[in-house]
Amino acid sequence: MKCGSCGRGTMARVESEMRRTVAGHTFSGMVGALQCKVCSAEEIELDEAKRFERAIAGELAGALPSGQAIQFIRKVLGYTAAELASLFGVRPETVSRWETDKNPIDRAAWTLFALLLADQRDTEAALRAAAAARDLPKLVKVA
Ligand SMILES: [Zn+2]
Repeated sequence: MKCGSCGRGTMARVESEMRRTVAGHTFSGMVGALQCKVCSAEEIELDEAKRFERAIAGELAGALPSGQAIQFIRKVLGYTAAELASLFGVRPETVSRWETDKNPIDRAAWTLFALLLADQRDTEAALRAAAAARDLPKLVKVA
């Protein structure tokens, strides 16, 4: 794979520090990236950026709720505000009030957020395990 910045170098896999500020907290973590051997330009892979965001969502879910945290976690989970409202059994305006700090989110809904994140993590771990299991060759006894 050629570098998108200089067009000359080939890309090598490296670990790169990623930082992001959400809801008043700045998070830092190491993620997988591709780095050009010639110009050192780095590209963080989309999957790695998503993993980083999921880790942040997990941290936020374990802290006190805030509008920005609610919106961030909702997006990480892949829900629109309307979908989340329907899932939680509230009106879309209620979600909007949570996310703009006009009304506090109720405890049950905040707890459900953490559970949804944990469920997403478990599902992905199970899928990864299944994919790894597929890597084993099927043996045929020939003698
Ligand atoms: Zn380059």
